[in-house]
Amino acid sequence: MIREYETVIGLEVHVELNTKMKIFCGCSTEFGAEPNTHICPVCTGMPGALPVLNKKVVEYALAAGEALHCRVNRRCRFDRKNYFYPDNPQNYQISQLYLPICQDGWLEIETGEEKKKIRIHEMHMEEDAGKLIHDEWEDCTLVDYNRSGVPLLEIVSEPDMSGKEEVLAYLDKLRTTLKYLGISDCRLQEGSMRADVNLSVRERGSKSLGTRTEMKNLNSFKAIARAIDGERERQIELLEMGRAVEQETRRWDDNKESSRAMRSKEDAKDYRYFPDPDLPELSIDRQWIDRIRKSLPEMREEKQQRYQEQYGLSEYDARLLTQSRPLAELFEETLRWYGDPKKAANWFLGDVQRLLKENALEPEQITFSPEYLGELLNMLDQGTINQPVAHQVFEQIFLYNTEPRAYVEARGLALVQDTGWLKELVIQVRNREAEAFEKWLQGQEKVLGFLVGQVMKEARGKADPVQIKKLFLEEKDEDDNH
Ligand code: ADP
Ligand code: MG
Ligand code: ZN
Repeated sequence: MIREYETVIGLEVHVELNTKMKIFCGCSTEFGAEPNTHICPVCTGMPGALPVLNKKVVEYALAAGEALHCRVNRRCRFDRKNYFYPDNPQNYQISQLYLPICQDGWLEIETGEEKKKIRIHEMHMEEDAGKLIHDEWEDCTLVDYNRSGVPLLEIVSEPDMSGKEEVLAYLDKLRTTLKYLGISDCRLQEGSMRADVNLSVRERGSKSLGTRTEMKNLNSFKAIARAIDGERERQIELLEMGRAVEQETRRWDDNKESSRAMRSKEDAKDYRYFPDPDLPELSIDRQWIDRIRKSLPEMREEKQQRYQEQYGLSEYDARLLTQSRPLAELFEETLRWYGDPKKAANWFLGDVQRLLKENALEPEQITFSPEYLGELLNMLDQGTINQPVAHQVFEQIFLYNTEPRAYVEARGLALVQDTGWLKELVIQVRNREAEAFEKWLQGQEKVLGFLVGQVMKEARGKADPVQIKKLFLEEKDEDDNH
């Protein structure tokens, strides 16, 4: 008999919070600085140095807790997680175990048509470790403490996910949510978002959970998807052979597409957690939580809903437009200068998306003024320029924030409004392409496109094809009347 297995997955996600200062000292959190230039006695664990909690970190955690429907522990505390590793200068990490700031929330995900709530077990604040750099040439290991003390939020889900689709949907939703809140840039590649995947399998229908492994070192959505497939198979194979899955931490190697055991899984008791005596218990009052709640931005779902209702956009378009908050905000800004939301949306979904991709840019890196895009769209509507010119000018706006009206004038890109001149060109083409013209008169509609094209060529693109068409139709009418 073939046994059927189902996969059970829970995630532990760490995100770096983008506060200016570290969690327990005033050092800068700036990424990419010279090694060991953003350090002080606190974040290098010097004896006698004392931590002071950064208030912003608590506010960011509360905002995330609110967005993920968590209950706040209004009395919360920091604990020491004791372990030795050279990137950890104190030999303990300040984290939260007994009274984490947030508990019992949920995040709704969508896979295909289905919606599902993934429960959040808890969310806690902690400090990041330094970075080890292995120098193979010199055969030594160097350490950079710039990252030591950068604030992290760890978000622990319940084991509610049943496969890679749900995991990716969860991570995507989490990332969008935290980016909307503006508390983290959530880049997997750069390590500002890190996901540890806890996975077990069990026979379909079984109520109890199987033994899980935890996979680390996953730095892209693709790697996560492959790691899930690989680990699921490995565990099923073991069970099919009548062997047991060991509870352990495994390191996924995306190049080899396989994982290997890193260490047997520690229990909380191995870390000898105890409340950090250097930090007082935190008491969070209701007014503070209310202030945070009131200051939350319009989140993606609300924005999407509003775009559909207020602007009459389709669900699909509204969803794409609200994928990134900076993009959505730019779109809304554009509408202050230009009145047709649907046309503006098309521009964002078409040209803006394409140029982002071609230039490998993120929406938050966009530098053009929405006013200029608005102006361009108005010029297009008024027939000052035609569609191809608009695309061309928009590229200038996108890349160099060029003011469109001056640009169009300087390059002579405006359509020639002089119908007399156009009419002449039409007659010229009619005489030159007499055969084609005749065919069109006899009802071959497709030939009109060719004729218009010829006139466009003569006008060197500075004419409005709609107007040329009109002129040809006038010619035809005159012919018919003769
Ligand atoms: P620990 O304290 O050892 O880190 P937790 O109980 O906090 O373990 O769980 C860590 C993560 O592992 C959570 O995201 C949880 O949902 C997930 N998890 C726990 N048990 C299982 C299991 N049997 N299968 C899959 N995931 C699990
Ligand atoms: Mg854990
Ligand atoms: Zn410091």
